[in-house]
Amino acid sequence: MLNKPRMLTPGPTPIPAAVRLAMAQDMIHHRKPAFKAVMAETQRLLRPLFGTAQPVLPLSCSGTGAMTAAVTNLFSAGEKVVVVEGGKFGQRWTEIARSHGLVPVVIEVPWGSAVTAQAVKQTLEQHGDAAGVLVQCSETSTGVMHPVREIAAVTRSAETLLVVDGISSVGLSPCPMDEWGVDCLLTGSQKGLMLPPGLALIALSERAWARTATVTPSCFYFNLRAERKNAEADQTLFTTPVSLIIGLRESLRMYEETGLEEVFRKQWALTQMVRTGVSAMGLAPFVAADYGWGLTSIALPGGIDGTAVLAHAAQHYGVIMAGGQDHLKGRIIRMGHMGWVDWGDIAAGLHALAESYRACGGYIGCRDYIEQALQAYNEALLSYAENNPFA
Ligand SMILES: *Cc1c(COP(=O)(O)O)cnc(C)c1O
Repeated sequence: MLNKPRMLTPGPTPIPAAVRLAMAQDMIHHRKPAFKAVMAETQRLLRPLFGTAQPVLPLSCSGTGAMTAAVTNLFSAGEKVVVVEGGKFGQRWTEIARSHGLVPVVIEVPWGSAVTAQAVKQTLEQHGDAAGVLVQCSETSTGVMHPVREIAAVTRSAETLLVVDGISSVGLSPCPMDEWGVDCLLTGSQKGLMLPPGLALIALSERAWARTATVTPSCFYFNLRAERKNAEADQTLFTTPVSLIIGLRESLRMYEETGLEEVFRKQWALTQMVRTGVSAMGLAPFVAADYGWGLTSIALPGGIDGTAVLAHAAQHYGVIMAGGQDHLKGRIIRMGHMGWVDWGDIAAGLHALAESYRACGGYIGCRDYIEQALQAYNEALLSYAENNPFA
């Protein structure tokens, strides 16, 4: 009770009161007009979020379910796909592809680095028969942002479909599907969209839809063509998580009111705030250049136990952050700045990080890291138009 809990994790993320209250309303039936009205508005609001004229389909599952749906609806067993593996979630693409009988051609990228479009191009030249490229927009295990726009410039002129896991980037940084030529974009509810876990969203390009006609889905539950048919009637194939869809509508109304570009501007500024604050403390962001806008990984010097830092921050400051996975366990801290999070939460997060790092044996020389971080936030807001990499 002394500290307000602050969820600075890369999902689940904090949820605004308006969304929580919307989800608390009485249950409505998913086949009746009241729900169809919710779906119709949600569909209208989802298209600009994904940057597409195509329907954006809700699926009742976590983000990995949508990844599975993408693979099982777009590719047939025996086909080859190129997978970008630069972290835990890249590996997940490989595992899903294998479990569907596909032949993954893996581009291994060191954890903390982004793949280059050139590497994707060369791999596709060697494997001209690859039916798809599977990549993360933001690789959440490291905080890297892969160059989706540049990769799309390679795949859009080929026969190869570009499938993008945007789970920690949709609603946080730009990925306009139609403009860039992304063939499949998907996300989960619990990252950028300020909702509880349990809902996934997926959209396909025109040529990806054409591909689905040639593939027999190997899974009864994830049938995207049947889902699309239902969506045209403001319905879903099976009983949908009604409360989450109502919450989604509320969250999307907030996006509409604020404007997507404004949200991106805030995310960019929060990212600069964290990076500046962490550097001022004498710590280093784990990702040097190609970083995502929804989380920042912080490298810890040898001898500091990241798990202990996290436990201290939670216990003494109410700030919940995530650690590293696999070989990065204990070595990095991942501070999420996605969902219903603002500069005040990040100031609290930086303070908790610095004090917990100190309590675990680290040395912080500088006293004004929060001031520097806030200044970076303000400057980033002002200079977004010129400085963001998508400008
Ligand atoms: C969180 C995350 C996932 C996993 O999503 P679940 O909802 O846990 O299934 C996959 N990919 C990325 C990039 C993520 O951030």
